[in-house]
Amino acid sequence: MTQRLRKADRDVLALGIACAAIVLFVTTGGTVMPKIVRAWMGVGEAPDIALTNAVLLNIALLIFGWRRYRDLHSEVAERRQAEQRAQQLADTDELTGCLNRRSGVPAIDKILSAAHSSKEHIALFMIDLDNFKQINDLNGHKFGDLVLATVAKRVRALLPKNALLARIGGDEFVCAIPHPARASERMERIAEQVICAVSEPIEHKSGIIEPTISIGMVSTDQDSTDTKLEADALIHRADIAMYHAKKNGRNRYFWFEAQMEDEIRLRNELETGIRNGISKGEFIPYYEQQIDLETGKLVGFEMLARWNSPKYGLVKPEVFIPIAEEIDLISELSEKLVEQALRDANAWDPRLTLSINISPLQLQDPWFAQRLLQMLIDAGFPPNRLEIEITESCLHQNIGAVRSIVTSLKNQGVRISLDDFGTGFSSLSQLRTLPFDRIKIDRSFVADLGEDEASNELVEAIISLGRGMSLPITAEGIENARALDALKAMGELKGQGYLYGRPEDANTTRNRLAELDLLTGEKAAEIAMAASEDLDERKVG
Ligand code: C2E
Ligand code: MG
Ligand code: MG
Repeated sequence: MTQRLRKADRDVLALGIACAAIVLFVTTGGTVMPKIVRAWMGVGEAPDIALTNAVLLNIALLIFGWRRYRDLHSEVAERRQAEQRAQQLADTDELTGCLNRRSGVPAIDKILSAAHSSKEHIALFMIDLDNFKQINDLNGHKFGDLVLATVAKRVRALLPKNALLARIGGDEFVCAIPHPARASERMERIAEQVICAVSEPIEHKSGIIEPTISIGMVSTDQDSTDTKLEADALIHRADIAMYHAKKNGRNRYFWFEAQMEDEIRLRNELETGIRNGISKGEFIPYYEQQIDLETGKLVGFEMLARWNSPKYGLVKPEVFIPIAEEIDLISELSEKLVEQALRDANAWDPRLTLSINISPLQLQDPWFAQRLLQMLIDAGFPPNRLEIEITESCLHQNIGAVRSIVTSLKNQGVRISLDDFGTGFSSLSQLRTLPFDRIKIDRSFVADLGEDEASNELVEAIISLGRGMSLPITAEGIENARALDALKAMGELKGQGYLYGRPEDANTTRNRLAELDLLTGEKAAEIAMAASEDLDERKVG
């Protein structure tokens, strides 16, 4: 600071000296100088020596002032250049050469203002790489950087010259494209071309990847009011549309629509509700009876999760399980429910089994089997009374990990069923990929039984497939006597469905079992002992 001041002082002094020298030269030098020149040429008398020296000194000062001026000039030019470069570096994302977030948003604001006054429009694309975290984790950050740089290059090559491209997050780019009114089709074509170009393969020493992107789009043309929109507001809308594209399968684009905002708001509320609900114990197990169709005897229960939400009431698992999976809370949620279910089932007759549904994500966790077995030990619940139900989607990823979990559980006596059979892409070979103990026919096939010949044939085919593989079968979703009769005619089966009752909470289940003398505990044991010989004959409903 003091050095800069001293330099500035010096510059003021130099300017003062230069001005004084010029004034002196103009006033004195103008008359003295010609005399000196004439004296040198020998045609006149030399002026006073002191005056001559003063003029010469004056000339030296002028030269000094001029040089100082020149130095200053080039110093200022250099400094300006350095500042420009520093500004450029600060504004640019080094990896991709795009604008960065800091500079991108004001730049978009600037072209929004320009477009607003020239009655043009701006389309904003929010571009996000699909599964970038996975690309990074599997191939390393260096390769991740290469993917980002390549994607940016491919996108830029397809944008009009007057468009802006900024990288505003790890794998998030935003581009702003000026366009005339009613140009949505042109923007869609650009989006399609960008999606297509980005997905060209990128080679890597360990293989090739074909990156995909999701694009959320918004245009000032969509806004019927004439208000000038801020960059942040448009980015927010494009972000919502991008999120919608992700939800709908990725590798696609969507235009922003107002109701998407409501969906996101609800989704965020549900997310917060689920997070808080887990610790508050709002998730509770319900139980659905499983029946031996031939004898009509109750053989066990399937535990079905419910969210007893103070805000939304009793919420079905189809709503909250996918969200819990996405926000990585499914294990915590499921394990709390299983602990509760094991406690509940401990009070039931020991011949009754407990089935629990397990998410494919839980089967990706190498510690899952150990934790489940520990829960069984802690609850004192025999593993051979437990059945876990998994869906076909478990068979599609990391099957090695799934197989080792299933094997550890089976070694301890836990049984494994293939749930919702027929709804996925099951093939005979997939049935062989895991050592299943049971197939559960999806309720969609059972619904029309006894009414629709095609359904009858389909269910018969599944049953004979199971028989061929020595796999017992449970039919889900038996709603009426017609479906039950059709199933009974097809052989020995277990079944469940609304015909036998809706899923019920732990208390109602316990009361039902008490009525049937199917409870353990001191009182139940007394009753059970007295009626033990009758027990096998009892039927449900
Ligand atoms: P699922 O395992 O196939 O469970 C059977 C579903 O069918 C249950 O729906 C049950 O209420 C319903 N259902 C039973 N009988 C009938 C019937 O006669 N007619 C009709 N229309 N439906 C019937 P719910 O409870 O809504 O569960 C839906 C799905 O959510 C379950 O399908 C299961 O895949 C999943 N789920 C439930 N609890 C859990 C859990 O704790 N963890 C995980 N990962 N998934 C769960
Ligand atoms: Mg199930
Ligand atoms: Mg099912």
